[in-house]
Formats: sequence, C-alpha cells, structure tokens
Amino acid sequence: MCLVMEKVLSARFDIPNSHTLDVYLQHGGYRALQKALTEMTPEQITEEVKKSALRGRGGAGFSTGLKWSFVPKDSPKPIYLVVNADESEPGTFKDRPIMEKDPHALLEGMMIAAYAISSHLAFIYIRGEYWYLKERLEQAIEEARARGYVGKNILGTGFDCDVIVHPGAGAYICGEETALLESLEGKRGYPRIKPPFPALVGLYGCPTVVNNVETIASVPPIIVNGGDWFRRLGTEKSGGTRLFAVSGHVERPGVYERPLGYPLKQLIEDCGGVRGGRKLKAVIPGGTSAPILTAEEAETITLDFEALAAIGSMLGSGGVIVMDETTDIVQATYRSIKFYEHESCGWCVPCREGTNWLVKIFRRLLRGGGTERDIDMLIELSDNMFGRTHCPLGDAAAWAVAPAVKKFRAEFERYVQRRVSVAV
Ligand code: SF4
Repeated sequence: MCLVMEKVLSARFDIPNSHTLDVYLQHGGYRALQKALTEMTPEQITEEVKKSALRGRGGAGFSTGLKWSFVPKDSPKPIYLVVNADESEPGTFKDRPIMEKDPHALLEGMMIAAYAISSHLAFIYIRGEYWYLKERLEQAIEEARARGYVGKNILGTGFDCDVIVHPGAGAYICGEETALLESLEGKRGYPRIKPPFPALVGLYGCPTVVNNVETIASVPPIIVNGGDWFRRLGTEKSGGTRLFAVSGHVERPGVYERPLGYPLKQLIEDCGGVRGGRKLKAVIPGGTSAPILTAEEAETITLDFEALAAIGSMLGSGGVIVMDETTDIVQATYRSIKFYEHESCGWCVPCREGTNWLVKIFRRLLRGGGTERDIDMLIELSDNMFGRTHCPLGDAAAWAVAPAVKKFRAEFERYVQRRVSVAV
C-alpha cells in the first residue's frame, strides 16, 4: 500500500472558475471520455473499473465495476444510470464540493459509466436543500451539451446520452437507492424489497445502476491512468483516494482528500488536531450510521473498508465526526436516534416502533428518571431491530445506539445515578 497524498478528486477545487467547461478542458477534462469512447469497449471500461478496486462512496462500499457488470447486456428495455446526490447522512458533505467546484468531473464520469452499461439517459437525484447546486449542474450540462460532451452523437462517436437533474424533497430515506428510485418515479419514497435489485428491475422497472457522486467522479482518472494506478493509491481491496468530510471538535473542519488506508489519527492531526488541545473522546468514522469508535480505537485504526469492518464499524459515507472530552455521549447519541426516528418511513415495525421506543428511553434517562434496566433495554431493542428491517435505516439506528451504550456505559450510568439530568 502506498500512502501518497495525491489529489485525484480535489485536484481542481482551488482553481478559479473550476466549475466552467473551459477551465475543466484546460486541466485535462474530457480526455477520459475521448479515450473511453474511441479506444475502449464497454466491457474494457467495466474491467478497468473492477481492477481499480473502486468501491461505492455512498456508504455500502460495494464494488463499482461488479455493480455495472450485473446489468444485462441484451436488455430489450432501456437502461438507466442514476447518480445519487442525495447526501443526507448526518456529518456528510463531501459530494457537495464536487458538484460545486468540479461538476464536469461528475458529468464526464457519468458519460463513461453510461457508455459502459449502454445507457442513453442518466439522472442526477439531488437533495432538495442543494437547490443552488442543481442550478450549477444544469449550467454545466448546458455547456457540455453545446460542445458535444453530453447529448446526441457525443464527440462524433454516435453515442447518445442525456442527463436530467431531479431534486428530492428533503427525506433522508430517499438516499437509499430503491426509495430514491420510487421518488424519482414521482411516488412516495418507500424502499423496495430486494431482490430484485435495481441492476435488473430499477427505474420504471428497467435495468438501472445507482452510483454515488464521488464514485462516478472517480471514474475519469481511472480511465486516463488505469485501474492499477488507482488501486495502488489505496489498499488492495479499497482502491484510490476518497473525500473525508471532517466535522466536530477539530481545529479545521472541512473536506480532506486522503488515500484509503490512511490513519484516522493522522487525519485528525491534518485538521489541526482536537479543538483547543483537548483530549479525544470518540469518533464516528462514516456518518452517524457508522458505529462509534473510542479514542483508543481511533488512535490506531486506518480509514478503509476492511479495517473498520474488522472492529465492528464502517467507513460508510466518509463523514468523520470528531468528539472531544467535553462531549456528552448520551446526549450526542440521543440526537442521532431522534434523527432516525423522525426519518423512519414507518413501513416496518422494528424500525417505526423501535426508534420511537429508543427515543422515549433516552428521554427518560436524560431527564433523570431512568434505571439500569433502561440502559440494558437500549441494547436489547437495538439488537432486535438489527437485520430485521426492510432497509438499512433500521440497522443504522441500531448501530448508532448499541455500540455507544456498550463502549460508554459509565456515561449512561451517571444519568441513572441522578448525578446529571437535562431538559429534553
Ligand atoms: Fe422504512 Fe425504517 Fe423500514 Fe427502512 S427500516 S423501510 S425507513 S420503516
């Protein structure tokens, strides 16, 4: 593994007017699309992406090339590409700079992905709160269409693909790929039962690939430099670099591009260290859905899919939330579970009722009326939710609670012993 600090996704972020087509072209833009359309077959592109060990940057970390290869080659129906720009996982804001500062990188990646899966219509499903980015993307699409990078007969090769930007309406669940597809079809954003998976039955019942913004923006450099080059930037199974959105108690929160396999401790130091020179208490490494890490775990762990899974957490969306010694873990966890309770779509009982019961127990504890049994019940309830829901929101809620209780039980006991209480 090599830990070079190469900027791949953020290379153009600091260039003035980096969002415009002219600046993008001046800095190597659309070279990958030219190469893909004129020198490579769709199968070769998919193989190169597989070789790169690019894994989905939205949360699940599934192999991107493998996902593309599930799309049937001989489909009589249209095939769709959908970019998930919903970015609503708490603590996550890393797709935002791509769309704001480098929208053509996303469009170029989309055209290559569309060619690889034989899609002629692609969508960007963007969270409603990103209305200003919707305008930016639409401007970029117009520019690209006018110069032959999007639309009919792209670069004179005969390949057609257009792009539609569709805003969501602010529901967290619409970041889940099947709920997103329902929403895109104009329906209420309920998740679908899987299987069938979207690769076979997706948008309007047609084969569909749903990929995250950062995942797709990683494709052009893979095509230009090769899959092996990209994989070597990260670890054997987690190729490349990724954007980490670091928030919370660090001196310089922000978006940092680092290779997969980078030490979490070093990332915190790159952000100026823990705020005010205080001690680190905990880190949530991949958005609030990722199980919390103690300071000791955070000191030694590397940021890649395998290492975090091995200690029972996950890299998730790359939203790193740093908590210093002043953080009240009980209150912080309560904020998370309140969020999941609010965002539960209510379809399945363990999630709808479980999140509600968890909120009630948290309130009882925080108000000073809880018991030791309540602390155990938080874990039991979470365990009963995990793996028993239609979509990952139920698992995310359970993961936000049980590890926090197990790792920081003494903090919960302070509330039981009436040493502290707060108004909630
Ligand atoms: Fe809806 Fe929650 Fe069930 Fe997901 S887990 S389908 S959000 S009720």
